[in-house]
Amino acid sequence: NAPIVTLVGRTNVGKSTLFNKLVGKRKAITEDVNGVTRDRVYDKVEWTGHEFILADTGGLDISNKDIMNQEVKSQVEKALFESDLILFVVDGREGINPHDSDIANEIRKYNKKVIIVANKIDRGKIPDHLYDFYKFGFDDLIAISAEGSKNLGDLLDKIISFI
Ligand code: GDP
Ligand code: MG
Repeated sequence: NAPIVTLVGRTNVGKSTLFNKLVGKRKAITEDVNGVTRDRVYDKVEWTGHEFILADTGGLDISNKDIMNQEVKSQVEKALFESDLILFVVDGREGINPHDSDIANEIRKYNKKVIIVANKIDRGKIPDHLYDFYKFGFDDLIAISAEGSKNLGDLLDKIISFI
């Protein structure tokens, strides 16, 4: 059975864009509607002779109590439970968002390996505030641009080294 790698993070950080780039298809819905990825979306990724299943999830906005978000949340919980590796996607252009801290606390409960993926680093040098994300205490961190296809090879190498 191929290992399962799951994308989690708050809405609009670029999870679905990254999913589509890594699977090489436009399968996930990337409209700018918060929480639009309600069901889990899966596809197979092959890289340097290794194979894994990539799962996209809706935004995990723990503070939001409305019914749709509860549904999204329980889908995300199922996805986290069955994951071999979690890709915790954050907006690398911003510092730590309070929702990121909530999500970090949620993810930690599952005791899985976690790579923080700081997305939207489209150009220029890595901003200093990116290192703040290390305080969450997860296994690794990488800066990428999903839209600009930057550093995706390094991300894939990292994923393979963790599964
Ligand atoms: P999700 O809610 O986490 O699935 O985020 P989406 O993949 O739907 O993307 C949210 C928005 O961020 C869209 O407008 C994307 O075009 C944009 N986006 C995604 N990746 C990048 C990136 O690497 N750089 C920039 N500048 N924008 C991005
Ligand atoms: Mg999405």
